[in-house]
Amino acid sequence: MINIPKGTKDVLPDESYKWHYIENCIREVTKSFGVHEIRTPVFEHTELFLRGVGDTTDIVNKEMYTFNDKGGRSITLKPEGTASVARSFIENGLSNTAMPLKMYYVSPIFRYERPQAGRLREHHQFGVEFYGAKGADTDAEVILLAYTLLTKLGLSVSLNINSMGCEKCRKSYNEALRAFLKDRAEGLCETCNVRMEKNPLRTLDCKNPSCKETLKDAPVITDYLCDDCKAHFERLKGLLDLSGLEYTVNPHIVRGLDYYTKTVFEFVTTDLGAQGTVCGGGRYDNLITQLGGGQVAGVGFGMGIERVLMLMENKGIVIPKNDEPRLFIATMGEEAYKKAFYIVNKLRALGVAAEIDHMERGIKAQFKYADKIKAQYVATIGESELASGVVNLKKMDDGTVESIEIDSLIEKFA
Ligand code: ATP
Ligand code: MG
Repeated sequence: MINIPKGTKDVLPDESYKWHYIENCIREVTKSFGVHEIRTPVFEHTELFLRGVGDTTDIVNKEMYTFNDKGGRSITLKPEGTASVARSFIENGLSNTAMPLKMYYVSPIFRYERPQAGRLREHHQFGVEFYGAKGADTDAEVILLAYTLLTKLGLSVSLNINSMGCEKCRKSYNEALRAFLKDRAEGLCETCNVRMEKNPLRTLDCKNPSCKETLKDAPVITDYLCDDCKAHFERLKGLLDLSGLEYTVNPHIVRGLDYYTKTVFEFVTTDLGAQGTVCGGGRYDNLITQLGGGQVAGVGFGMGIERVLMLMENKGIVIPKNDEPRLFIATMGEEAYKKAFYIVNKLRALGVAAEIDHMERGIKAQFKYADKIKAQYVATIGESELASGVVNLKKMDDGTVESIEIDSLIEKFA
C-alpha cells in the first residue's frame, strides 16, 4: 500500500464542508474590507525566497522543498505567501493601479518541519497583503481584518504586537543585542552562535529552551526605536485602543521572516498546545525594493487554516453543514426508476440537490440510505404510484407523510 507523505493530510468528503465554511467566511470578511483575491503558482524560483524571506531564517535554511526541474532550474514549493505576491506585484506593474492595493490568498504552504499536531509539511494559509500605504492605520486595518474573521468563526484569541523598527533603529539594537549575546554565548545553541554574528535578531525567534532562557533579559527593540518608528507604533496602539481590541506589547516577537519592519503581530491562543500561533504578520516596507521593485510599503499576515480548524474543533464549535439532499426518490421497478431518473435530473438542472439509488437496493434499504445521507424528503414510486400518478412524500425529520402528484414534484422542490 502507498501511504500519504508524512506531515500531509487528506480532507475527506465528509469534512470538506468545514473548509468551505471557513473559506466562505474568508470571502465575506475580505469583501467587507475591500480586499481582492490573488492566485500565484505553487512553486517559484528558489532565488525569490532567498532574497525575499532571508537566508538566515529557519524557513530558508531548513524547511524549504527545493529541487531542480528537468531544465536544471532551482525551484521551491511556496514556503510562505508574501514573497510570491510581492514578485507578482512587481512583475505585473501593480504599483500603477489604485493604491493601496489590498489582496488576499488562500494557498497551500510547504515546509519541511517535524510534524506534530498543528504542524504539518503541507498546510494552508489565508494571507492578506496590503501594498502602497505606509501609515499605522493600514496596520490596524489588517489586524482588525484578521480579528473580524477569527471572531466570525467563533474564536477568541489574544493579540500580541511589537515594533521591529527600521534599518536605523535595527542597527543600534543589533549592536546592543550582539554585545549582550557575546557575554552569554555558552547559553546559546550552535545556530544562535552563528546568528549572533550574522543576524542577532533571529536568536529571539529560537525555540531552544536554553536560548529562550538566556534571552529573557535581553535588551528589547522597543527601547531602540527612532522617532519615526516610535510615532508609528504609538499611532497603531491608539487606533487599536479606539477599536476596542485588546492587545499586549510583547517586545520578544520578531517573527520568523527577515522582511519585517516596524509593526509585527501575532494572534495566539493557549488552546492549541505548543502550536499557539494562529496568525502572524506585520509590515514590510523594504520587501518590494529588496526584490528589485520600487519603494512600496506593505503590510499583511498569514493565518494557518488547519490551526483555525483545530481550534474550532477543540472548542466544540459546530460548523453548519448544508450539503444534504432535499429529495431522495425511492423506486420499485424499471419504469418507476426511469420516471424518478427523469425527475431527479430535472431538479438538479434547476439547482435542487436530488438523489436516487444507484446500488440496486430494495425499497427498505433505499430508505435506510436516504436516512444516512440525511435526505430531507423521500418520495416513493412503484407500480401503483405510476398507475395513480400520486406518490407518498415523507418528511424525514418528523416522519409526516403527504400525498402529492408525481407531476408536481418538480414544482414543489424547484
Ligand atoms: P510557528 O511559530 O508556529 O512555527 P511561524 O512563525 O512559522 O509559526 P508564519 O510563517 O508566520 O508562522 O505562518 C503563519 C501561520 O501559519 C502561523 O501562525 C500558523 O498558524 C500557520 N503555520 C505555520 N507553519 C505551520 C505548519 N507547519 N503547519 C500548520 N500551520 C502552520
Ligand atoms: Mg515556523
